[in-house]
Amino acid sequence: MFGKPIELIQIFGIKIRIDPSWFIVAVLVTWDFATLVFPGQLPGNAPAVYWAMGVAGALAFFVSVLLHELAHAVVAKTYGVEVRAITLFIFGGLAEMPAEPPTPQAELVIAAAGPAASFGLALACGALVLIGSIAGWSKEAGSVLGYLAFLNGTLALFNLVPALPLDGGRILRAILWGWRGNLRWATRVPSAIGSGFGLLLIGLGVVSLASGSFIAGFWLFLIGLFLRSAATASYQQVLLRRALEGEPVSRFMHADPVTVPRGIPVLELVQSYIYRYHFKMFPVVDDSGRLLGCVTARRVRELPRDEWDRQTVGSLAERCTPENTVRADTDALEALSRMSRSGASRLMVVDEDRLLGILSLKDLLRFFSLKMELEETGKG
Ligand SMILES: [Zn+2]
Repeated sequence: MFGKPIELIQIFGIKIRIDPSWFIVAVLVTWDFATLVFPGQLPGNAPAVYWAMGVAGALAFFVSVLLHELAHAVVAKTYGVEVRAITLFIFGGLAEMPAEPPTPQAELVIAAAGPAASFGLALACGALVLIGSIAGWSKEAGSVLGYLAFLNGTLALFNLVPALPLDGGRILRAILWGWRGNLRWATRVPSAIGSGFGLLLIGLGVVSLASGSFIAGFWLFLIGLFLRSAATASYQQVLLRRALEGEPVSRFMHADPVTVPRGIPVLELVQSYIYRYHFKMFPVVDDSGRLLGCVTARRVRELPRDEWDRQTVGSLAERCTPENTVRADTDALEALSRMSRSGASRLMVVDEDRLLGILSLKDLLRFFSLKMELEETGKG
Protein backbone atom coordinates (compact mmCIF):
# COMPACT_ATOMS: atom_id res chain seq x y z
CA MET A 1 0.00 0.00 0.00
CA PHE A 2 2.76 2.49 0.93
CA GLY A 3 5.69 0.78 -0.76
CA LYS A 4 7.23 -2.64 -0.99
CA PRO A 5 6.30 -5.29 1.58
CA ILE A 6 9.11 -6.48 3.83
CA GLU A 7 9.80 -10.21 3.69
CA LEU A 8 10.20 -11.89 7.08
CA ILE A 9 10.38 -15.68 6.81
CA GLN A 10 9.07 -18.65 4.83
CA ILE A 11 6.69 -21.17 6.40
CA PHE A 12 5.76 -24.28 4.36
CA GLY A 13 7.19 -22.50 1.31
CA ILE A 14 4.87 -19.51 1.87
CA LYS A 15 6.51 -16.11 2.17
CA ILE A 16 5.42 -14.13 5.20
CA ARG A 17 5.54 -10.41 4.46
CA ILE A 18 4.71 -7.16 6.20
CA ASP A 19 3.32 -4.24 4.25
CA PRO A 20 4.63 -0.88 5.54
CA SER A 21 1.02 0.14 6.25
CA TRP A 22 0.94 -2.56 8.94
CA PHE A 23 3.23 -0.50 11.20
CA ILE A 24 0.47 2.08 11.59
CA VAL A 25 -1.94 -0.50 12.96
CA ALA A 26 0.81 -2.17 15.05
CA VAL A 27 1.52 1.12 16.83
CA LEU A 28 -2.19 1.95 17.25
CA VAL A 29 -3.04 -1.49 18.64
CA THR A 30 -0.12 -1.53 21.09
CA TRP A 31 -0.98 1.99 22.23
CA ASP A 32 -4.66 1.09 22.61
CA PHE A 33 -3.82 -2.04 24.64
CA ALA A 34 -1.29 -0.26 26.89
CA THR A 35 -3.22 2.93 27.61
CA LEU A 36 -6.88 1.88 27.49
CA VAL A 37 -7.60 -1.85 27.49
CA PHE A 38 -5.28 -3.23 30.15
CA PRO A 39 -5.42 -0.21 32.53
CA GLY A 40 -9.21 -0.63 32.34
CA GLN A 41 -9.05 -4.35 33.16
CA LEU A 42 -6.37 -4.27 35.87
CA PRO A 43 -6.24 -0.80 37.44
CA GLY A 44 -3.41 0.28 39.76
CA ASN A 45 -0.31 -0.94 37.91
CA ALA A 46 2.74 1.05 36.76
CA PRO A 47 2.71 2.27 33.12
CA ALA A 48 5.70 0.00 32.32
CA VAL A 49 3.59 -3.05 33.22
CA TYR A 50 0.81 -1.91 30.87
CA TRP A 51 3.28 -1.29 28.06
CA ALA A 52 4.80 -4.76 28.53
CA MET A 53 1.26 -6.24 28.44
CA GLY A 54 0.45 -4.09 25.41
CA VAL A 55 3.48 -5.21 23.43
CA ALA A 56 3.00 -8.89 24.36
CA GLY A 57 -0.73 -8.71 23.59
CA ALA A 58 -0.22 -6.95 20.25
CA LEU A 59 2.49 -9.40 19.18
CA ALA A 60 0.32 -12.38 20.12
CA PHE A 61 -2.62 -10.80 18.30
CA PHE A 62 -0.62 -10.43 15.08
CA VAL A 63 0.62 -14.00 15.39
CA SER A 64 -3.08 -14.96 15.69
CA VAL A 65 -3.91 -13.09 12.47
CA LEU A 66 -0.99 -14.83 10.79
CA LEU A 67 -2.20 -18.25 11.99
CA HIS A 68 -5.66 -17.47 10.60
CA GLU A 69 -4.12 -16.77 7.17
CA LEU A 70 -1.79 -19.78 7.41
CA ALA A 71 -4.82 -22.00 8.02
CA HIS A 72 -6.32 -20.76 4.73
CA ALA A 73 -3.01 -21.25 2.94
CA VAL A 74 -2.24 -24.74 4.23
CA VAL A 75 -5.75 -26.01 3.41
CA ALA A 76 -5.54 -24.33 -0.02
CA LYS A 77 -2.33 -26.22 -0.70
CA THR A 78 -3.98 -29.55 0.02
CA TYR A 79 -6.47 -28.64 -2.75
CA GLY A 80 -3.62 -27.81 -5.11
CA VAL A 81 -4.19 -24.04 -4.91
CA GLU A 82 -0.77 -22.41 -4.72
CA VAL A 83 -0.32 -19.66 -2.11
CA ARG A 84 2.67 -17.46 -2.86
CA ALA A 85 2.69 -15.20 0.15
CA ILE A 86 0.84 -14.00 3.21
CA THR A 87 1.00 -10.25 3.74
CA LEU A 88 0.07 -8.48 6.95
CA PHE A 89 -1.25 -5.02 6.12
CA ILE A 90 -3.24 -2.24 7.73
CA PHE A 91 -6.57 -4.14 7.70
CA GLY A 92 -5.26 -7.57 8.75
CA GLY A 93 -3.82 -10.39 6.71
CA LEU A 94 -4.04 -11.43 3.08
CA ALA A 95 -3.16 -14.81 1.58
CA GLU A 96 -2.23 -14.30 -2.07
CA MET A 97 -3.79 -17.01 -4.22
CA PRO A 98 -3.15 -16.50 -7.93
CA ALA A 99 -5.83 -19.03 -8.92
CA GLU A 100 -9.44 -19.58 -7.86
CA PRO A 101 -10.21 -22.75 -5.91
CA PRO A 102 -11.06 -25.54 -8.39
CA THR A 103 -14.42 -26.58 -6.90
CA PRO A 104 -17.14 -25.12 -4.64
CA GLN A 105 -16.22 -27.67 -1.99
CA ALA A 106 -12.55 -26.60 -2.07
CA GLU A 107 -13.54 -22.94 -1.77
CA LEU A 108 -15.82 -23.71 1.17
CA VAL A 109 -13.18 -25.62 3.13
CA ILE A 110 -10.40 -23.11 2.34
CA ALA A 111 -12.60 -20.19 3.41
CA ALA A 112 -13.81 -21.90 6.58
CA ALA A 113 -10.29 -22.84 7.68
CA GLY A 114 -9.46 -19.26 8.78
CA PRO A 115 -12.39 -18.64 11.12
CA ALA A 116 -12.02 -22.22 12.41
CA ALA A 117 -8.40 -21.47 13.33
CA SER A 118 -9.44 -18.23 15.05
CA PHE A 119 -12.16 -20.01 17.05
CA GLY A 120 -9.61 -22.65 17.98
CA LEU A 121 -7.20 -19.97 19.19
CA ALA A 122 -9.99 -18.28 21.17
CA LEU A 123 -10.78 -21.59 22.90
CA ALA A 124 -7.10 -22.30 23.54
CA CYS A 125 -6.60 -18.85 25.11
CA GLY A 126 -9.74 -19.33 27.19
CA ALA A 127 -8.48 -22.71 28.38
CA LEU A 128 -5.13 -21.13 29.33
CA VAL A 129 -6.95 -18.50 31.41
CA LEU A 130 -8.68 -21.29 33.32
CA ILE A 131 -5.48 -23.30 33.79
CA GLY A 132 -3.67 -20.12 34.83
CA SER A 133 -6.24 -19.25 37.46
CA ILE A 134 -5.99 -22.75 38.95
CA ALA A 135 -2.18 -22.86 38.74
CA GLY A 136 -1.88 -19.34 40.15
CA TRP A 137 -0.30 -17.53 37.16
CA SER A 138 0.02 -13.75 37.34
CA LYS A 139 -3.09 -11.63 36.89
CA GLU A 140 -1.36 -9.78 34.04
CA ALA A 141 -0.89 -13.00 32.02
CA GLY A 142 -4.52 -13.92 32.64
CA SER A 143 -5.69 -10.52 31.50
CA VAL A 144 -3.68 -10.64 28.25
CA LEU A 145 -4.81 -14.22 27.51
CA GLY A 146 -8.44 -13.38 28.24
CA TYR A 147 -8.33 -10.42 25.89
CA LEU A 148 -6.69 -12.56 23.18
CA ALA A 149 -9.52 -15.08 23.53
CA PHE A 150 -12.01 -12.22 23.02
CA LEU A 151 -10.10 -10.79 20.03
CA ASN A 152 -9.77 -14.14 18.26
CA GLY A 153 -13.45 -14.87 18.79
CA THR A 154 -14.33 -11.43 17.40
CA LEU A 155 -12.00 -11.97 14.45
CA ALA A 156 -13.72 -15.28 13.64
CA LEU A 157 -17.21 -13.78 13.92
CA PHE A 158 -16.38 -10.67 11.88
CA ASN A 159 -14.88 -12.81 9.13
CA LEU A 160 -18.01 -14.96 9.02
CA VAL A 161 -20.22 -12.07 7.88
CA PRO A 162 -21.43 -13.35 4.48
CA ALA A 163 -19.90 -10.44 2.56
CA LEU A 164 -17.08 -10.61 0.05
CA PRO A 165 -14.11 -10.28 0.42
CA LEU A 166 -14.56 -11.71 3.95
CA ASP A 167 -14.39 -15.47 4.58
CA GLY A 168 -18.15 -15.60 5.18
CA GLY A 169 -18.65 -14.13 1.71
CA ARG A 170 -16.47 -16.84 0.22
CA ILE A 171 -18.39 -19.50 2.13
CA LEU A 172 -21.70 -18.10 0.84
CA ARG A 173 -20.23 -17.96 -2.67
CA ALA A 174 -19.12 -21.59 -2.44
CA ILE A 175 -22.61 -22.67 -1.32
CA LEU A 176 -24.32 -20.70 -4.12
CA TRP A 177 -21.75 -21.89 -6.65
CA GLY A 178 -22.31 -25.51 -5.65
CA TRP A 179 -26.08 -25.06 -5.76
CA ARG A 180 -26.45 -23.41 -9.19
CA GLY A 181 -23.08 -24.12 -10.79
CA ASN A 182 -22.74 -20.48 -11.84
CA LEU A 183 -19.67 -18.77 -10.39
CA ARG A 184 -20.62 -15.35 -11.77
CA TRP A 185 -23.97 -15.28 -10.06
CA ALA A 186 -22.53 -16.90 -6.95
CA THR A 187 -19.99 -14.06 -6.73
CA ARG A 188 -22.46 -11.27 -7.50
CA VAL A 189 -24.63 -11.98 -4.44
CA PRO A 190 -21.98 -11.87 -1.67
CA SER A 191 -20.16 -9.02 -3.42
CA ALA A 192 -23.36 -6.97 -3.32
CA ILE A 193 -23.68 -7.82 0.39
CA GLY A 194 -20.01 -6.82 0.80
CA SER A 195 -20.68 -3.49 -0.79
CA GLY A 196 -23.68 -2.93 1.52
CA PHE A 197 -21.74 -4.09 4.58
CA GLY A 198 -18.96 -1.65 3.66
CA LEU A 199 -21.52 1.13 3.50
CA LEU A 200 -22.90 0.11 6.91
CA LEU A 201 -19.41 0.32 8.45
CA ILE A 202 -18.84 3.72 6.84
CA GLY A 203 -22.14 4.89 8.37
CA LEU A 204 -21.20 3.47 11.80
CA GLY A 205 -17.83 5.19 11.44
CA VAL A 206 -19.47 8.55 10.79
CA VAL A 207 -21.79 8.08 13.80
CA SER A 208 -18.81 7.18 16.04
CA LEU A 209 -16.88 10.19 14.77
CA ALA A 210 -19.83 12.45 15.50
CA SER A 211 -20.13 11.03 19.00
CA GLY A 212 -16.47 11.70 19.72
CA SER A 213 -14.77 8.30 19.36
CA PHE A 214 -12.29 9.58 16.86
CA ILE A 215 -9.98 6.59 16.32
CA ALA A 216 -12.71 3.92 16.31
CA GLY A 217 -14.84 6.02 13.97
CA PHE A 218 -12.03 6.72 11.56
CA TRP A 219 -11.09 3.05 11.63
CA LEU A 220 -14.61 1.83 10.84
CA PHE A 221 -14.81 4.40 8.06
CA LEU A 222 -11.56 3.17 6.49
CA ILE A 223 -12.44 -0.53 6.79
CA GLY A 224 -15.84 0.21 5.24
CA LEU A 225 -14.20 1.94 2.28
CA PHE A 226 -11.75 -0.92 1.87
CA LEU A 227 -14.47 -3.60 1.99
CA ARG A 228 -16.60 -1.75 -0.54
CA SER A 229 -13.85 -1.47 -3.11
CA ALA A 230 -12.62 -5.02 -2.51
CA ALA A 231 -16.18 -6.38 -2.89
CA THR A 232 -16.55 -4.76 -6.31
CA ALA A 233 -13.06 -5.79 -7.36
CA SER A 234 -13.63 -9.44 -6.45
CA TYR A 235 -16.70 -9.58 -8.70
CA GLN A 236 -14.90 -7.96 -11.61
CA GLN A 237 -11.95 -10.25 -11.12
CA VAL A 238 -14.17 -13.31 -11.48
CA LEU A 239 -15.68 -11.92 -14.67
CA LEU A 240 -12.27 -11.17 -16.10
CA ARG A 241 -10.90 -14.56 -15.10
CA ARG A 242 -13.82 -16.34 -16.73
CA ALA A 243 -13.45 -14.33 -19.91
CA LEU A 244 -9.70 -14.70 -20.38
CA GLU A 245 -8.83 -18.03 -18.79
CA GLY A 246 -7.80 -20.66 -21.33
CA GLU A 247 -7.51 -18.15 -24.18
CA PRO A 248 -4.00 -18.01 -25.68
CA VAL A 249 -2.26 -14.67 -26.10
CA SER A 250 -2.09 -15.27 -29.88
CA ARG A 251 -5.86 -14.67 -30.10
CA PHE A 252 -5.52 -11.08 -28.93
CA MET A 253 -2.16 -10.01 -30.29
CA HIS A 254 -1.60 -7.62 -33.16
CA ALA A 255 0.62 -9.35 -35.70
CA ASP A 256 3.00 -7.20 -37.70
CA PRO A 257 3.51 -4.44 -35.11
CA VAL A 258 5.40 -1.17 -35.61
CA THR A 259 9.08 -1.71 -34.82
CA VAL A 260 11.92 0.77 -34.43
CA PRO A 261 15.37 0.23 -35.99
CA ARG A 262 18.12 0.49 -33.38
CA GLY A 263 20.26 2.93 -35.41
CA ILE A 264 17.93 5.97 -35.46
CA PRO A 265 18.42 8.88 -33.04
CA VAL A 266 16.11 9.21 -30.03
CA LEU A 267 14.75 12.48 -31.47
CA GLU A 268 13.42 10.60 -34.50
CA LEU A 269 11.88 7.98 -32.20
CA VAL A 270 9.99 10.74 -30.40
CA GLN A 271 8.83 12.59 -33.52
CA SER A 272 8.14 9.76 -35.95
CA TYR A 273 7.01 7.03 -33.54
CA ILE A 274 5.89 8.15 -30.09
CA TYR A 275 4.04 11.32 -31.26
CA ARG A 276 2.62 9.46 -34.25
CA TYR A 277 1.43 6.18 -32.72
CA HIS A 278 1.02 7.24 -29.07
CA PHE A 279 2.42 3.97 -27.73
CA LYS A 280 4.49 3.87 -24.55
CA MET A 281 6.66 0.98 -25.73
CA PHE A 282 8.15 0.01 -29.10
CA PRO A 283 10.04 -3.17 -30.02
CA VAL A 284 13.60 -2.45 -31.22
CA VAL A 285 15.03 -4.55 -34.08
CA ASP A 286 18.43 -4.85 -35.76
CA ASP A 287 19.12 -4.56 -39.50
CA SER A 288 18.02 -8.14 -40.20
CA GLY A 289 14.75 -7.70 -38.27
CA ARG A 290 15.93 -9.64 -35.22
CA LEU A 291 14.33 -8.47 -31.95
CA LEU A 292 16.81 -6.78 -29.62
CA GLY A 293 14.49 -5.55 -26.90
CA CYS A 294 12.21 -2.60 -26.47
CA VAL A 295 12.37 1.10 -25.85
CA THR A 296 9.89 2.84 -23.57
CA ALA A 297 8.68 6.43 -23.28
CA ARG A 298 9.83 6.29 -19.66
CA ARG A 299 13.45 5.71 -20.73
CA VAL A 300 13.22 8.62 -23.17
CA ARG A 301 11.89 10.88 -20.40
CA GLU A 302 14.89 10.01 -18.23
CA LEU A 303 17.28 11.17 -20.97
CA PRO A 304 18.14 14.92 -20.98
CA ARG A 305 16.63 16.69 -23.99
CA ASP A 306 19.94 17.81 -25.48
CA GLU A 307 20.94 14.14 -25.71
CA TRP A 308 17.96 13.26 -27.91
CA ASP A 309 19.76 13.87 -31.23
CA ARG A 310 23.06 12.42 -29.98
CA GLN A 311 21.94 9.06 -28.61
CA THR A 312 20.50 6.22 -30.67
CA VAL A 313 17.48 4.10 -29.85
CA GLY A 314 19.83 1.11 -29.49
CA SER A 315 21.55 2.72 -26.51
CA LEU A 316 18.21 3.21 -24.71
CA ALA A 317 16.76 -0.21 -25.51
CA GLU A 318 15.87 -2.55 -22.63
CA ARG A 319 16.51 -6.24 -23.07
CA CYS A 320 13.67 -8.75 -23.42
CA THR A 321 12.63 -10.06 -19.98
CA PRO A 322 9.61 -11.98 -18.68
CA GLU A 323 8.30 -8.54 -17.62
CA ASN A 324 8.01 -7.24 -21.19
CA THR A 325 7.53 -10.40 -23.29
CA VAL A 326 5.14 -13.36 -23.50
CA ARG A 327 4.94 -16.44 -25.67
CA ALA A 328 2.06 -16.82 -28.12
CA ASP A 329 0.66 -19.85 -26.30
CA THR A 330 0.67 -18.18 -22.87
CA ASP A 331 -2.71 -17.95 -21.16
CA ALA A 332 -4.17 -14.44 -21.61
CA LEU A 333 -4.93 -14.34 -17.87
CA GLU A 334 -1.26 -14.96 -17.07
CA ALA A 335 -0.30 -12.17 -19.49
CA LEU A 336 -2.74 -9.85 -17.74
CA SER A 337 -1.33 -10.61 -14.31
CA ARG A 338 2.17 -9.99 -15.70
CA MET A 339 0.98 -6.58 -16.93
CA SER A 340 -0.49 -5.71 -13.56
CA ARG A 341 2.71 -6.79 -11.77
CA SER A 342 5.03 -4.76 -13.99
CA GLY A 343 2.67 -1.91 -14.85
CA ALA A 344 3.32 -2.41 -18.60
CA SER A 345 0.31 -1.89 -20.86
CA ARG A 346 1.96 -3.59 -23.86
CA LEU A 347 3.86 -6.88 -24.06
CA MET A 348 5.94 -8.22 -26.95
CA VAL A 349 4.81 -11.65 -28.14
CA VAL A 350 7.99 -13.54 -28.98
CA ASP A 351 9.35 -16.84 -30.21
CA GLU A 352 13.06 -16.93 -29.26
CA ASP A 353 14.40 -13.71 -30.83
CA ARG A 354 11.59 -13.36 -33.33
CA LEU A 355 8.82 -10.82 -32.71
CA LEU A 356 5.40 -12.30 -33.53
CA GLY A 357 3.21 -9.43 -32.40
CA ILE A 358 2.17 -7.06 -29.64
CA LEU A 359 -0.36 -7.73 -26.91
CA SER A 360 -1.99 -4.62 -25.49
CA LEU A 361 -4.05 -4.17 -22.34
CA LYS A 362 -6.53 -2.10 -24.34
CA ASP A 363 -7.27 -5.04 -26.68
CA LEU A 364 -7.69 -7.45 -23.76
CA LEU A 365 -10.14 -5.13 -22.02
CA ARG A 366 -12.03 -4.42 -25.23
CA PHE A 367 -12.47 -8.16 -25.80
CA PHE A 368 -13.59 -8.53 -22.20
CA SER A 369 -16.27 -5.84 -22.39
CA LEU A 370 -17.53 -7.19 -25.73
CA LYS A 371 -17.78 -10.68 -24.32
CA MET A 372 -19.66 -9.37 -21.29
CA GLU A 373 -22.10 -7.50 -23.52
CA LEU A 374 -22.80 -10.55 -25.69
CA GLU A 375 -23.03 -13.06 -22.86
CA GLU A 376 -24.88 -10.97 -20.30
CA THR A 377 -27.39 -13.75 -19.77
CA GLY A 378 -24.96 -16.61 -20.41
CA LYS A 379 -23.57 -18.99 -17.84
CA GLY A 380 -20.64 -17.77 -15.76
ZN1 LIG B 1 -9.80 -15.43 6.58
